[in-house]
Amino acid sequence: MGITNSTADGAGARDQPNQNQLNRSGQQEADLLVDPQDPRSTYLLEPDDVAYLVSRVVAADGQSHASTSPFTGAPLASIPRSSVPDVARAVADARRAQTSWERTPVGERARVLLALHDIVLDEQSEVLDLIQLESGKSRGSAYEEIADVAQVTRHYGVRGPSYLKPRSVRGMLPLLTGTTVERHAVGVVGVISPWNYPLTLALADVLPALVAGNAVVLKPDEQTTLTALWAADALARAGLPDGLLQIVVGGAHIGGALVDQADHIAFTGSTAVGRVIANQAAERLVGVTLELGGKNPLYVAADADVESAAEGAVRACFSNSGQLCMSIERLILHEDIAEEFLGFFLPRVKSLRLGAGLDYSADVGSLTTQAQLDRVVEHVDDGIARGARVLAGGVQRSDVGPLFYAPTVLKELPDDALCMREETFGPVVTVTEVPDDDAAIRAMNDTQYGLNASIWTSDTRRGRKLASQVKAGTVNINDGYAAAWGSVAAPMGGFKDSGHGRRHGREIIEAVTEAQTVSVQRGVGHGASLDALFSLPDGQGQEILTRGLRILRALRFQ
Ligand code: NAD
Repeated sequence: MGITNSTADGAGARDQPNQNQLNRSGQQEADLLVDPQDPRSTYLLEPDDVAYLVSRVVAADGQSHASTSPFTGAPLASIPRSSVPDVARAVADARRAQTSWERTPVGERARVLLALHDIVLDEQSEVLDLIQLESGKSRGSAYEEIADVAQVTRHYGVRGPSYLKPRSVRGMLPLLTGTTVERHAVGVVGVISPWNYPLTLALADVLPALVAGNAVVLKPDEQTTLTALWAADALARAGLPDGLLQIVVGGAHIGGALVDQADHIAFTGSTAVGRVIANQAAERLVGVTLELGGKNPLYVAADADVESAAEGAVRACFSNSGQLCMSIERLILHEDIAEEFLGFFLPRVKSLRLGAGLDYSADVGSLTTQAQLDRVVEHVDDGIARGARVLAGGVQRSDVGPLFYAPTVLKELPDDALCMREETFGPVVTVTEVPDDDAAIRAMNDTQYGLNASIWTSDTRRGRKLASQVKAGTVNINDGYAAAWGSVAAPMGGFKDSGHGRRHGREIIEAVTEAQTVSVQRGVGHGASLDALFSLPDGQGQEILTRGLRILRALRFQ
């Protein structure tokens, strides 16, 4: 495989050419395969492999686009595009398939997830290549997606049936009213996912939706369609019946058509698009779960193990080149340890290896799109123009690939600098010093977002106390992001502009099902019913009931 490797400070590889060498069979650029559908284009992936995957796209009118690999800018594959009528067909077919799936015993539905678990672990090298080629991330970041899917499939494969079991609650009249809460699939769940974690985010909401008895229409980002198609194929091989997972491909227009027809929308993406989708869904009174952006802080308290904190911060800031919703973009350092922390942190940042290899040789990969690179450049340039000191990076690394950017650390920025306020979604972190914990909490909460936060302290009780004051959906103590994200039994989502609703745990199962309360009244025909009570003359029934209510209150009956 063609690999360009280099450390973040450029040591060792600036003189190497940008290599357009990536393909799954290890061929050089000159040998790249020609797609029979388009004689003008060469593609990095085998057309036969691609044809097999894209046959799952619901797209009737033959339109397509060429996706490119971020590593090199070379064409990757020709991907069909769906039309609005295709979305209607996908939803109708999904709806048809859903009626028998909902009646399939939940244990059988859960078994499909457990089979997918094994397929993903067994075939990881194939899907890791695909994830890297479509997103440009390092293999280590791609592997996070494998581990994540294993966690989620196992969780819902094992716990799904218990989340969905009818739950008995206290009835209106003790002993006489038997009440259960049942959960019914909403029908067709529309999942709209972004490009940054193409396997994880294609499946994170699909899997609980399926185990709950729904069908799903998935619209992945156009940049990372093949990974989503690989996941759909793996689910079919895991035993998912035909029709239950439909894939449509396209941009905002196709996403909008899906929001117009699905019975629940699970969206992961930017806050701006999340607002559009929330409005559209509100018109139809269908549910939405919105997993949106962040501007996540990491606080290193004065008592932290500074070396571990620095190591954790490197991962938290630069995993997936910072294109991670939970990524840390603001470091907040207690002034007593700031210098010591930076003494560990900066050399580690500068020694990160950038590269485009389909192996574990690089620490940090490429940005995924030109738009993402433009945003990073805009934020860093804005910071520098406002007087920021560049402690590391601050430069594009086109010597490694067209969309690479050096891991960057900025200090001494004004509060209104772009990279202090807006989500950068790239390998850029700012440094702020604070005199005490109270100032740290104020700084952490000084944002419109509230997705993730991280606190490093050697006193976990203190960490928990600080966490309770942070306005964020997840707080990781002595970890950057993985501990809370990977605790898939717990809800995951954002405060403020970072989202609405939650994924993971019981919460997403509740979002993709309707609650139905079924109450059975006993004693009918034996004079013990409410009807019998209220038919007593002269208010006797009401008097008995009032006495009964007083007794229940005294017994603290709930
Ligand atoms: P985006 O909002 O531009 O696009 C996300 C998806 O929505 C894509 O599939 C896109 O085609 C589709 N889309 C765009 N406009 C639409 C519309 N009007 N109607 C329906 N669908 C539409 O986001 P992006 O730039 O691809 O992804 C990056 C963002 O995602 C970042 O803000 C990041 O923080 C966020 N994100 C959040 C989480 C989380 O769990 N909170 C996870 C990953 C990414």
